[in-house]
Amino acid sequence: MTDCDFLLVGHGLAGATLAYVLRERGYRVLVYDPGQANSASNVAAGLMNPVAGKRFALSWRAAELLPAAVEFYQSLEQRFGQSFFTAAPIFKIFGSPEEQHSVLARSAEQPWAGFVAALVTTDPGLPGVHAPHGGAWLQHGGHVAVRELLAALAVEGLRDGWLHPAAFDWSQVVFGPAGATYAGQVRARHVVCCEGAAAVRNPYFSWLPLTPNQGEVLDVECAELSAAQVLNRGAYVVPLGDGRFRVGATYRWPPFAPGITAVAREELAARLTVVTDLPFAVVEQRAGVRPAVRDRRPLLGPHPTVPGLSFCGGYGSKGVMLAPRLAALLADALEGHGELWPEASLQRYNALQPASVS
Ligand SMILES: Cc1cc2nc3c(=O)[nH]c(=O)nc-3n(C[C@H](O)[C@H](O)[C@H](O)COP(=O)(O)OP(=O)(O)OC[C@H]3O[C@@H](n4cnc5c(N)ncnc54)[C@H](O)[C@@H]3O)c2cc1C
Repeated sequence: MTDCDFLLVGHGLAGATLAYVLRERGYRVLVYDPGQANSASNVAAGLMNPVAGKRFALSWRAAELLPAAVEFYQSLEQRFGQSFFTAAPIFKIFGSPEEQHSVLARSAEQPWAGFVAALVTTDPGLPGVHAPHGGAWLQHGGHVAVRELLAALAVEGLRDGWLHPAAFDWSQVVFGPAGATYAGQVRARHVVCCEGAAAVRNPYFSWLPLTPNQGEVLDVECAELSAAQVLNRGAYVVPLGDGRFRVGATYRWPPFAPGITAVAREELAARLTVVTDLPFAVVEQRAGVRPAVRDRRPLLGPHPTVPGLSFCGGYGSKGVMLAPRLAALLADALEGHGELWPEASLQRYNALQPASVS
């Protein structure tokens, strides 16, 4: 029988960051994950963007989440001697004079003002970039090489024995007053479900209002395109180095396609041609499912009726920015101190739990 403090199910961004934080605090952690090439985390473009969408909406708690995320990813860079985080300006291109006027008119009193370095009303002349109406230069954002980061952690986990490369079978877990026993082989004080969108099928958590949606990204080669910033207009264009860019992302609601689609490829290619006239070649296409939530806020915290069981996820399209700070908050709660943010606590949905799930 293996004993651990925390057994985590899932090693995407949610599980990996939580596992890391708990191990750093000295706990014995065991993580189950069979390794899934098309998990949301392995597909993600890795963008951390404080001001999103056409509405120029400030991302939820960006001022607190962003610095925590940067610090976290930089600490992992030091640990592995590998680069994961790239601080990069984001140039949000105005699509029309109307959009330009509307943003300028609203700019003074906006909560996002601290994230906007400059607003420009004419084409800044970035090589290959079509921006006749100017745009907004955003600061404090950047992007993370999520797949590489998770791979580095997984290599360590397999070597040190805390990552078990297998699916967790929820029918084999028994919860009792002192914690959980799994398949007669593992004893854990606490189990945390970090399954991403797969949690919709979890027997303990299927009542949570997860509303998964599928997304696709393209990696393209476009040698002449300016790579000094992330570009954003309809699509984001994230520089990967060596003339490569990641272009994303599509949104598709169920029923999901079994994998990548020609429709998404055409949609993303069309969106890229709005940003640049330069020729490009698609070199890779990937699809994954985002663990989105009805109210677009994360889901964290203990199961309302099963002691020794918690949930960590619901990160939607913002996992890169959310995961580090929320992992620390959940770790505090698992240690019995600190308050989960009410908007992120799954307690807000406790009333949805059917009486039979306990
Ligand atoms: C196309 C696309 C682009 C995106 N771009 C961005 C972006 O630019 N910036 C951003 O912040 N976010 C982005 N996202 C969203 C981001 O990927 C998610 O918010 C985040 O990765 C979710 O992490 P997660 O760990 O909750 O889920 P996942 O990454 O899906 O991980 C869940 C893990 O649980 C494992 N698992 C599931 N069930 C079991 C089981 N029974 N036993 C063991 N293991 C199990 C899976 O194998 C998987 O590894 C994007 C998503 C998509 C699809």
